[in-house]
This record gives sequence, structure tokens and C-alpha cells, in this order.
Amino acid sequence: VLDCATLLAGPMVATLLGAAARIAAGESLREEGLEGERPPSRSKVDLATMRRDDVFVLRSGSGGGIGDPLLRDAEIVARDVADGYLTAGHAELVYGVVTRADGTLDRAGTEVRRMALRRERIGREPRVDGRTPASVGVAVERGAAGWACASCATGFGAGEDWRGHGEVVRREALAADRFEERGMQVKRRAEAPDILLHEYFCGACAAALSTEVVVASER
Ligand SMILES: [Zn+2]
Repeated sequence: VLDCATLLAGPMVATLLGAAARIAAGESLREEGLEGERPPSRSKVDLATMRRDDVFVLRSGSGGGIGDPLLRDAEIVARDVADGYLTAGHAELVYGVVTRADGTLDRAGTEVRRMALRRERIGREPRVDGRTPASVGVAVERGAAGWACASCATGFGAGEDWRGHGEVVRREALAADRFEERGMQVKRRAEAPDILLHEYFCGACAAALSTEVVVASER
């Protein structure tokens, strides 16, 4: 909280009456207690003029994580929701984890949601259940028989590149569309080439295997 300053960057400036005095008194301000206007601004783009009792709120995304979000321990995801690290909506959308209003895990709802997301990934019913790979983040392993899904051991052939194998499902979409579906702010490209995401899934258990960022003209 500053008396007056102009800063570069930041999502919003809100006002909390008496904020400076309350901080001086040792109070921790919470976003829910803010009043007044909340003009959002894009990170690194806008100028924000701050006056006395304005509060500069900066919210940043968490890390990308490692491994398949649908194989993440649902209890841990629910705890992250309860602790405020994830919104309930994001937990359901990305992790397929459904929580109750009191913050506890809805186990049955989670099972239904996760199955729906797996079906959506591969466009059919998964044949087998996958588990978290022994080495988290290593979704495809190379053994004596060739490549295999590290979640369900389905083989992806002995060739150089597993991505073209018949048991691998590839999904292509505009990167901006996929980010937007997850509630992220993205600036759409106004000119060619398009930036795409190629997402690869195991055709047997629907585990997420790999995601590549692809320039449309180089595909
Ligand atoms: Zn699999």
C-alpha cells in the first residue's frame, strides 16, 4: 500500500478504506475485504496509478505441475482446494476432482468426472485403468519389447517414434482454445501462423502421454 505511485504491470488495484492504518496495526489484509473499483489490468502491459489506501492485488498461476492431473491423488487435490491453492472449478476441470461445498472430497463425483474426461480424451471408453507411473512425469517407457504406456503397460511398438502407433490417440487444437477452456487469459494471435497443441493419450487407459506446441506451418 503506497501513498501514490505509478507502477508498471499488475492485474488490479482495489481500495480498502484505512488499509494503511490497518497494516500498520498488524492486520493481514484479505482480498475478500476489499471494496471499491477493481479495474483489471494485464500483466506487464498496463499502467496503474495508485493512491492512498489503494491495494495492488497480484495473482499469478501456479506451476504447470508434473504428470497426468487425472492420476493425481484426489485427496491431495481436495486439500489444495481447501487451502486455497486451487479453485473448486479448476480442480474439477483439470484434475477431475469434485469437492463438496464444505471443502471435502466427493469421491463418487470424482470417479464419474474423471471417467468422463478420460472418455473425452480418446473419444471412446477406456479399456483398462491406468496408475501413476513409477517415475512421475515419465509417461512412456522404453523396454526390451519397445515403447509402452507407463500407466497401463500397453505397447506402442518398437519403432523409433511411439507417437504414430495405433494405440496412441493424438488430439490437435488451437493452443489458445485449449488454454481458454481452462479459464486462462490468453492473447489470440491475429496473424498466421497458428500455434497448435498436439496432445497424445494412451488409447487403452487414456493417460496423458505428452503435449507438444506446434507451429501450424511447420506441422
Ligand atoms: Zn495406458
